[in-house]
Amino acid sequence: MKGLPRRTNLPPLILSKTFIGSVVPPPKVAPRKKVPPIQAADVVRLHDMLIVKKRRLQGTVSGMRSEALEKDEAVSHDSIADHGTDMFDQDITLSLVENEQAIIQSIDEALVKISEGLYGKCENCADNIRKERLEALPFARLCLDCQEAQESGRG
Ligand SMILES: [Zn+2]
Repeated sequence: MKGLPRRTNLPPLILSKTFIGSVVPPPKVAPRKKVPPIQAADVVRLHDMLIVKKRRLQGTVSGMRSEALEKDEAVSHDSIADHGTDMFDQDITLSLVENEQAIIQSIDEALVKISEGLYGKCENCADNIRKERLEALPFARLCLDCQEAQESGRG
């Protein structure tokens, strides 16, 4: 009786069982593209952009504010009939001022981050914010993903 050559070192059945058991489909997670950190030269340029933007906004804010105050003085001497519309205009002007002041504050925060070397990082997930996004919005606090998530969360 001729036996088959014994291959004791490779038990085929157990091997294949182990193989099948270990086949777990890899999790289908889209690899997140790593955003490169912002370059120092870009930070310098964006810093200048922030300063210019801040100056421009401050000019606008003080201009608008004095305009609103002038209107207020004018209103007090005017007839009551005109009063309503002027108050309305003044409200709009002041809310614009508030909005611009909020941007100035964001710019100030961005400037602090630059000085602390934290500029260009998302405040939520700490990922690097894309350079293109910073070019468009140098005082962006969140990466695009987090910004969109926050906006959609608000409804
Ligand atoms: Zn983020």
